[in-house]
Amino acid sequence: MLRLNQSHLTKLETCPRQFQHSILEQFLSPVAPDLQEKAEWGKHFHLLMQQQELGLPLSPLLEQEQEMGASVISLLNATHERRLNHPQHWQEAEHARTLNFEDFLLTVVYDLLITQPNQGEIYDWKTYPKPKKHQLLAQQWQTKLYLFVLAETSHYQPEQLSMTYWFVQSKTASSSPDKTAIQSARIAYNVKQHETIRQQLKTLLNQLKQDLENYERQNIPFPQVAEEKGICPRCLFAHRCQRNAVSVQGNSSRESPLVDLDQIAELPI
Ligand code: SF4
Repeated sequence: MLRLNQSHLTKLETCPRQFQHSILEQFLSPVAPDLQEKAEWGKHFHLLMQQQELGLPLSPLLEQEQEMGASVISLLNATHERRLNHPQHWQEAEHARTLNFEDFLLTVVYDLLITQPNQGEIYDWKTYPKPKKHQLLAQQWQTKLYLFVLAETSHYQPEQLSMTYWFVQSKTASSSPDKTAIQSARIAYNVKQHETIRQQLKTLLNQLKQDLENYERQNIPFPQVAEEKGICPRCLFAHRCQRNAVSVQGNSSRESPLVDLDQIAELPI
């Protein structure tokens, strides 16, 4: 049974052919050095936060990584206040859940899950700037999948759930005068959203079933997004798809099975 996370769903929705190239065939272009550096910072930051939430000592690491340590402490202070308001809470870092849905395994890993008898809150650390439009966060598959899976695998009603993104950046990446400023965005949930997401998932996964069958049995490639949508020129597979003379890296022969940048900061260990 195929396991799907939010990155897979995003690719499927953006362009099914992108899902074929990157997930089924494992082709990805090398990551640009500046993006790689940011991704490494994000990955390390997640590891530090995970270590803290697991109760492991941070001091030696914080001494080595003073700039990142300041960011970790800022985030801990910001979230500590919330936790103090709920003394009877239960919490777990890197909390994983799986939901069997429409013959696929939907998987999520929460950076931090905090629950109380009548409330569940998902926390997610992001190492990029807070998006200007709140709605963009609510619409992305990470938000939708994380909340949907929690509602389906717990006793909570959708209205009792929420997801909060915490945004922190490295000093060099931040344009804020207060280099350790933490911003957050809380997304509430309700039964109407839950049922909408259920329908969206059903549509997406039923199409995936069909595309997989065609691909495996008849060697028919996954459908491509309409060229008019303007996604292809920015896609790493533009050259491979013959949708643009110049791919992002300028040469498809450099494609290789590398890491998915989208996932670097989310990787559970
Ligand atoms: S180049 Fe266009 S058609 Fe090809 S994978 Fe990318 S988005 Fe899809």
